Amino acid sequence: MKQVYVAYEGKEDPTADGFNYCPRCKTTLALKDIGRKRRSVCPKCGFIRFRNPSPAVSLLIVKDEQVLLGKRRGDPGRERWATPSGYIEYEDDLLTTAIREAKEETGLDVDLKSVIHVVSSFTSPGYHFLTIYLLAGVVAGELNPGDDLEAVDWFPVAGPWPDLAFQEDVDLLEAYSKTRFEGLPILAEKGG
Ligand SMILES: [Zn+2]
Repeated sequence: MKQVYVAYEGKEDPTADGFNYCPRCKTTLALKDIGRKRRSVCPKCGFIRFRNPSPAVSLLIVKDEQVLLGKRRGDPGRERWATPSGYIEYEDDLLTTAIREAKEETGLDVDLKSVIHVVSSFTSPGYHFLTIYLLAGVVAGELNPGDDLEAVDWFPVAGPWPDLAFQEDVDLLEAYSKTRFEGLPILAEKGG
């Protein structure tokens, strides 16, 4: 399975994100080459705007030979299906995020089993995700789509699956349905 997905030509210019003013002192930012990178820099206070990918967790929730998928309400992947996912907030670890997102997006309480995949994804212009995929089971709860999803439903692990938004989900489902590999076990108790 590959770890890097690039679905469009030319990655976005890291400085082209519409940040015009220093968030500390409101001075107009200037472009400056620092090391090997061009970055937005404040000429007054020295603030440097580092731009990084967005870290996310995505959940491969499996129960009774079925996998749980959600139909996305927004971009990227609007109106198409994907594994439930969410951004890792600054104050949360990845396990806490996974348990929270599962509950918010699907209504289910999950137990996290393993880190099954990690992917860098430039698949939608304007987005760069670093996504950690976790394999999870279900311990409780009732299926109920959250605000970011139009629907959540179970599909056979081996397919057929609905129209999937992301190639990385397709590849992971294909690999998992064939091999049942589980990756690195999660040793921590629940993240929260
Ligand atoms: Zn400044």
